[in-house]
Amino acid sequence: MASVTDSGKRYTFVCVACSLLSQATRKHAFTCSGACRVRWHRAAHRQSVMQDYANRDVEPWAVAQQEALRRLRPDLVPQLESKRGRAQLKELAALQPEIGKAFDDLVLSIARSRE
Ligand SMILES: [Zn+2]
Repeated sequence: MASVTDSGKRYTFVCVACSLLSQATRKHAFTCSGACRVRWHRAAHRQSVMQDYANRDVEPWAVAQQEALRRLRPDLVPQLESKRGRAQLKELAALQPEIGKAFDDLVLSIARSRE
């Protein structure tokens, strides 16, 4: 899907606040909007979630991108989970174009179903 917004890399992720799929040009994004960023900072469970991420030595943006992979391309999850640590983060980055394509396909299919 070509458009003026396709000028660079984009990262597909699941927003930590609203649990919806979203995309960003910032690699480290894990909320979809300003409203969700505020909601997340006020969320009662935020501290325990962040502590859990810290205990597992995972980054919130990586968790958010992995969740998008699980939803959009579950067939690629074993490929990601065969790697660990930095190699897994590299693999996650390498899979972004395919995750983005699956996101585009989903958006198009929803748009077509409403025609
Ligand atoms: Zn959100």
